[in-house]
Amino acid sequence: MPQVAVPDGVSQMLGVLRSAGVVVGPLDEVLQSTEEARVLGLVRGSRVAHRELLELVRQVRAERRVHSLDLTLPRGQDQEGHFAVRVAPLTEELCVILAEDRTTAVRLEAIRRDFVTNVSHELKTPIGAISLLSEAVVEAADDPDTVRSFAGRMQHESARLTGLVAQIIQLSGVQADDPLLSPRRVDVAEVLAEAVDVCRVDADDRDIALTVVPGESLAVMGDETQLAMAVSNLVRNAVLYSEPGGRVVVSARRRQEEDDSVVEIRVTDNGIGIGQADLKRIFERFYRVDYARSRANGGNGLGLSIVKHIAAAHRGVVDVWSKVGQGSTFTISLPEHSVDASAPASTSAPAFADPEPPPPAPAAATSARRDPADPDSEKELER
Ligand code: ADP
Repeated sequence: MPQVAVPDGVSQMLGVLRSAGVVVGPLDEVLQSTEEARVLGLVRGSRVAHRELLELVRQVRAERRVHSLDLTLPRGQDQEGHFAVRVAPLTEELCVILAEDRTTAVRLEAIRRDFVTNVSHELKTPIGAISLLSEAVVEAADDPDTVRSFAGRMQHESARLTGLVAQIIQLSGVQADDPLLSPRRVDVAEVLAEAVDVCRVDADDRDIALTVVPGESLAVMGDETQLAMAVSNLVRNAVLYSEPGGRVVVSARRRQEEDDSVVEIRVTDNGIGIGQADLKRIFERFYRVDYARSRANGGNGLGLSIVKHIAAAHRGVVDVWSKVGQGSTFTISLPEHSVDASAPASTSAPAFADPEPPPPAPAAATSARRDPADPDSEKELER
């Protein structure tokens, strides 16, 4: 039987269509398909690749009316693709499949839903505790010592609540503000000094020696407040996840990567360390290795996800090396702002001197590679 021809207009339209489109003949054979349909795996050779989709085509052919369907189809190993599909009769014999890839939108929606569930859960614990404690206060009204003790715990829980809300606001703030939209030249030494300042009291309280290694003058482009927030989150963790008597060293150095100069900001501790299995997950929102310890420290599992976001927004990455019982090194790598392109620190300046747009940001990385800690910070820790 000779192959049925696809009408000219339809053929031309498919030629310019960016989304997935497939014309199917009377024997279920694929007569024409767009590149996207093949890339998404809807078509294999001259066949429609998925049984469900083929059945829909047959139904449309039999009923001669348009059908729409949300389809979840396997894509690669352990993955799924989500498609909004419309199948329509074209002529007596032909049907057309139009499919919109909604995988990213579905994934983002799932992340958003998870986030809301996690936030609600995190809020419920201190709110529940405050509610119970306030009832207990009423019942113990005649006993001043008990009232004082319950009130102290209420203060602790409300401080937790305040901390959590502040971090959620921080996270949504850094997500909303693109630091490279109107970037400024940021002096790295100032970022380190600011971050260490914020953590100094905690470090002294916990008897942790907190040192900044003086280094060469380095600058990056972006938002100083965000960068100081990222570094202080790392320093805060280094202090909190170390035992009394521990050392935390903060340093920055330049690394040459082919034609690019990269600034590495490093926070090294000789604290409790993190196991290999947990290393892969610590940058996820709300993930904690030891829930009880994090909670006791006033943690909520958001600190590192904020660091990862800030690094990526500055076209950088955050890396970690860690070993249980030995300590951890977190490294934020950012493109250096070259001296030639220097602009006054207080004025707005273009992101990079290069007229070409800067290369796309690599995804924030979390690697468990051998600590590339610079000799300075290692020496400091050994002292
Ligand atoms: P948290 O508020 O719990 O500290 P983070 O997102 O900052 O949340 O960190 C996630 C988890 O990673 C922490 O709960 C902790 O278990 C682990 N972690 C982070 N930094 C360190 C570190 N320097 N040493 C050991 N464990 C760490």
